Amino acid sequence: MAAPHRSPRLFLGAPLGMDVEVEIDGDQAHYLITVMRVPLRGHVRLFNGRDGEWLAEIVEIPRRRVILRAVELLRRQTSQSDIHYLFAPLKHARVDYLAQKATELGAVRLRPILTERTVARRVNVERLRANAIEAAEQCNLLAIPSVDEPIELKALLDCWPPDRTIIFCDDAGVAAGSLMNSLSSLRSGPLAVLVGPEGGFSPAEREQLCTSKAVLPVSLGPRIMRADTAAIAALTLVQATLEKW
Ligand code: SAM
Repeated sequence: MAAPHRSPRLFLGAPLGMDVEVEIDGDQAHYLITVMRVPLRGHVRLFNGRDGEWLAEIVEIPRRRVILRAVELLRRQTSQSDIHYLFAPLKHARVDYLAQKATELGAVRLRPILTERTVARRVNVERLRANAIEAAEQCNLLAIPSVDEPIELKALLDCWPPDRTIIFCDDAGVAAGSLMNSLSSLRSGPLAVLVGPEGGFSPAEREQLCTSKAVLPVSLGPRIMRADTAAIAALTLVQATLEKW
């Protein structure tokens, strides 16, 4: 039987606590029984984004379902930097990749933003959420970001809360200061990182962003990066500064 830290790891929505029983069915039950061949009395690590990570024992395997009982708290739930990732959706494979990397880099909310030059205007939110869950299960994370339905950039800015600074990754703006310099002066309050589409932001969008009090235009250096690269660079620099890596 696999050692606890090597046991399969699953995210689920149900509450977790000592001796709490949970039932798993569908793909997750198939994964445990058929793919990972976890036997009766075998162990699985469970987390739900609220109650920490629990070692659970399989106590029953009724037809294509699995009943587990939480038997040991492995890790307490920890808090995360409150960072939203605002992104112009990219084509399928790249947006899946973005959802996974933003999750691994600790974004707590993934928000698809429709801009004038966004190419992929249809977003499969459930697919993004599944990618975020897979990244969290594989990377030993304790939380899953929420995923919003897409929203037009103008509508987002019209109702943006003044206490959350948007770090606007502006590859073409003269107003953009260095991200590192800007971060040193940023209060550690709620943040958002905004990355544009392959074609960048339009002048009108840049104008609207740079006139908003909640927006901090920043440069990510002299090289123009692809949107997915820029997202990783920006989220890494922000987290490294906030979490003092
Ligand atoms: N503006 C170019 C265009 O029109 O094709 C490139 C856009 S770039 C591929 C996509 C997004 O990545 C930009 O909207 C910006 O948010 C971000 N980005 C890329 N390189 C950057 C840099 N050096 N500084 C700040 N943001 C950058």
